[in-house]
Amino acid sequence: MFKVSKEYSIYSMNAGNTPVLRVPAKSQIEFETFDCFENQISSENDEFGGLDFSRVNPATGPVYIEGAEPGDILVVKIEKIEVANHGFCVASNSMGVIADLLDSYTIKVIPVENDMALFNDTIRLPINKMIGVIGVAPKDGEDIATGVPDYHGGNMDCKEITEGRELHLPVNVSGALLAIGDLHAVMADGEICGCGLEIPGKVTISVDIIKDKKHIKNPMLFSDTHIMTIASHVDLDIAMEMAVSDMAKYLTCEYSFDPKEVAMLMSMTADVRICQVVDPKKTVRVEFPKYLCR
Ligand code: CA
Ligand code: CA
Repeated sequence: MFKVSKEYSIYSMNAGNTPVLRVPAKSQIEFETFDCFENQISSENDEFGGLDFSRVNPATGPVYIEGAEPGDILVVKIEKIEVANHGFCVASNSMGVIADLLDSYTIKVIPVENDMALFNDTIRLPINKMIGVIGVAPKDGEDIATGVPDYHGGNMDCKEITEGRELHLPVNVSGALLAIGDLHAVMADGEICGCGLEIPGKVTISVDIIKDKKHIKNPMLFSDTHIMTIASHVDLDIAMEMAVSDMAKYLTCEYSFDPKEVAMLMSMTADVRICQVVDPKKTVRVEFPKYLCR
């Protein structure tokens, strides 16, 4: 298995980033990751405003996948997510949907034991480990900060990007340049205060390539039961329309559905869900049941 340590981090995704590793397709790779604050917080007494915010949302990588070319799909199978024994959540009047209800900030250290997050003496939350930032380089000449989600993946903060899932990322540059960071031990759809349970850890993935799928423009995710489209835009309504339209196009293109049947079946069975509403672009996913695809 190949390994990349967390010191090999980037803060933006672009074609010019120097690969830290080159691997053939079908390789298994372990990415070690910082938390989203690059492990700068050490205690609840730290000054939140004192963090170096140029070092938030680091992503480990990028890794060059041999044979991946523009127009292909990079398949990332998420095999294992391991998280540290504690992480942080921050509520602040400077971020999130209800910032105006808060008068300052609080940093909370949250231990993780036996797959439970110990919020306090009485509240224990079952963990749902997921990857916040995962993406490839955008088109040549573009530079997208690792805190921003877009057509290349990035900071999608999608809680379905978890163990056992297969993420499909459209390849924009030779080698794809895959990078991963920002694990969460617990996060809900929306991530309304801008923080999940932010935590360092390790992600084991394997990669593969599907050649020549130029019609797929945005990330897709596959579980045992669902096909998902994921789209991001500054306007949540537009992100929703993009994810819905991507799913309709995928179903008519890959399966022999009539477009009107697709509209009806999606209306009856496809859940439209919000991934997050707190990043520079908001992210929506659409989940279509696989049993209808034959
Ligand atoms: Ca994030
Ligand atoms: Ca995060």
